[in-house]
Amino acid sequence: MQPDANIGSSPESPIVDFDSLVSNDTPPDTVVDLSSLAVADIQRKQGFNLGAIRAKAPNLQITARFSLPLMVLLYFSAIPAPPLLVPLALIILVGVIFLIHQLYIYRRTRQPDLTKNIMISASQLDVVTAHLAWLFDPMIPAPMMMLVAIAAIGNGLQHGVRTFRSLFQIILLMTPVVIALRIFLLGFDWHCLPFLVLCAFLILYTFFMVRRSDAIHADMEARSTDLELNNFKLKQLGMALQKSEARYRNIFDTSSAAMVLIEDNMMISLANERFLELSKYSKSDLYNKKKLSDFIDKDDLQRIQRFHAKRRKMGGTTPTEYECKMMDKNNNIKHIIIRFNITQWHERIMATIEDITSRKKAKTALQSSIKKLRQTAARLTQSQKRYRNLFENTGTATILVEKNLRISMANSRFSELTGFTKHEIIGAKRLSEFIERKSLFRIRRFQAKQKEKDLAQPSEYECLMLDKDRNMKHVVMKIYTPPGQENSIVSFFDITQRKEAEAALQAAHERLRILAVGDELTQVANRRQFNEKLQQEWTRLQREGLPLSLIMSDVDDFKAYNDTYGHQNGDRCLRSIADAMKKTAKRTVDVVARYGGEEFAVIMPNTNQLGASRVAESIRIAVEELHIPNNASSVSDFITLSLGVSSMIPSQDLSLDALIKEADNALYSAKKQGRNRVVVSENACRRGENNLSWRVSSTAKSELTPPDSETQKKTAAVSLPAK
Ligand code: GH3
Ligand code: MG
Ligand code: MG
Repeated sequence: MQPDANIGSSPESPIVDFDSLVSNDTPPDTVVDLSSLAVADIQRKQGFNLGAIRAKAPNLQITARFSLPLMVLLYFSAIPAPPLLVPLALIILVGVIFLIHQLYIYRRTRQPDLTKNIMISASQLDVVTAHLAWLFDPMIPAPMMMLVAIAAIGNGLQHGVRTFRSLFQIILLMTPVVIALRIFLLGFDWHCLPFLVLCAFLILYTFFMVRRSDAIHADMEARSTDLELNNFKLKQLGMALQKSEARYRNIFDTSSAAMVLIEDNMMISLANERFLELSKYSKSDLYNKKKLSDFIDKDDLQRIQRFHAKRRKMGGTTPTEYECKMMDKNNNIKHIIIRFNITQWHERIMATIEDITSRKKAKTALQSSIKKLRQTAARLTQSQKRYRNLFENTGTATILVEKNLRISMANSRFSELTGFTKHEIIGAKRLSEFIERKSLFRIRRFQAKQKEKDLAQPSEYECLMLDKDRNMKHVVMKIYTPPGQENSIVSFFDITQRKEAEAALQAAHERLRILAVGDELTQVANRRQFNEKLQQEWTRLQREGLPLSLIMSDVDDFKAYNDTYGHQNGDRCLRSIADAMKKTAKRTVDVVARYGGEEFAVIMPNTNQLGASRVAESIRIAVEELHIPNNASSVSDFITLSLGVSSMIPSQDLSLDALIKEADNALYSAKKQGRNRVVVSENACRRGENNLSWRVSSTAKSELTPPDSETQKKTAAVSLPAK
């Protein structure tokens, strides 16, 4: 992947164009090396201060200096006198030693500039060659002159004209040393003279130079004041810069966002406290050891890469920020947003990392709670549907009633029951509008009573209901109020048919009952019932030792009545007599029965003779007071009765037949004595209630009084005619 030079190419927009970070030929699935996302190696401009020739100066010098020994050897080869091989061997040896030494230094220190090392060895070699040459033949100053020329030209070219002076000074120092060495080796000769003159010149030159340098010094002093001033200003500027740097560094260090500076080799060279906190690495672990891509989750890197590839294909720009996951030193995953910026200085990349883990977690939590809510809502909708379905298909007419009795829901069955459409019912009608008025009052009264007594309200009411056509229906209304709720579910069971069936059944029962135990004409007990009841009471009272009385009655001259008024009137008359008898013998244990024809009997358990005779008299009066006209009667203008009373305390030695017989006899006596009267059986009186006696008045009203002991035996039976 090629580092791209167009990254941050525009100085006005330091935003990284990430399009350029991925090459076209990158397959979409390969992992992006984040290092490739950084600024590429921006070509630094070389310092061509004096142009191309200056760049070539070292090479010229090297060539010149290495050519010096060659020229010296050429010179010596031209004159026969001095030995040639010695200086040649020496020069080559020294040259090789210098060269090896400089290459060794170059290799060991890995200096970037080989030319520089070679030039050093070349300049050393030319100096040595020049001196050796002069040493062997002082008459010929050429090598020395050449050396000076070469060095001066080379240095001047490379370092500027000023360097001439320093070179001159070197020669100044070296020349006396070489002359002294020559005098010492070869002895003084006149050849040394010009060089002594040269030395003198050099000394003089130095003298003048020193003097001149004083003037220069003064000038320098003046200039140094300016320089100091400038220096002071520079220092101030430096301090300001330092302050500004400190400020920026402070901002960098204390920024709430994590920040890192990325070098050309993609290594992190600077990170602020927040990033150290986020990554859990120390500065020493991080600086120039870690790349930002080392922290990014592998899958996310792939994702970013794929995204890049796609965007590049489509020709769009790519963003400078990414949301991804990063791992810290302890392998904890964090959610982050990375933003890339090119710094104005050095064109490095500044990456800002925002930790959004907590935001992400909150978002996830929110999303999951929204999901849960949605699920709950879906479940609720489902359950509501089910509930509605259930409500609709309960099979019973059902409504949902609010506290104010308004109907908020109704199913089709209810709609069928009432004849109203759902639309007419829901929200428009109240429950009370469907209940018949009397039923409603009854229910309300009942509820009020229950409330008064602090009792629970019943959940079921049987009542009448009104439909749309005001038809009544028998219903059972079931009310259910779920705990803690104000709405009630009310179901209606139509029992009209059941009610009708019940009524019909009831009537049939009644008819059957009367047919079985009662007399159809007079609605009193029939003969069979009479027999059974009398037997039952006889047995029971025998056990308890209590009296049993029997009244037998017969309508007076009834045959004549029938003949006069007809049988239908006769029947009506019999019904009236039976009713009158029932009303008079009103104790629940008393039984009025039709003994046969126009004869009636009354069984009176636990009743003594006195009581029975009073009842008999009351019956007689009651019938008489019916004032049923009977012109055919021999005793009255109205229908009358003759009654016979017998009473016994049942025992082993007495019989039921005897009781009936006694009563019959008494009745017979009453007829015989003139009808319309009560006769109490003498025997019965004697056997059952010896301590009682009675008197029957001759008028319609009879009066019975307890007997006194005197009259008890004389008046066993007293009866007076009614007329
Ligand atoms: P007495 O005062 O002696 O009893 O005279 P009586 O006419 O009542 O004589 P008796 O007891 O012999 O007559 C009974 C009559 O009662 C005969 C019959 O015409 C009449 N009777 C009996 N059963 C019924 C009945 O069920 N309906 C009607 N209408 N008459 C009946
Ligand atoms: Mg009779
Ligand atoms: Mg009769």
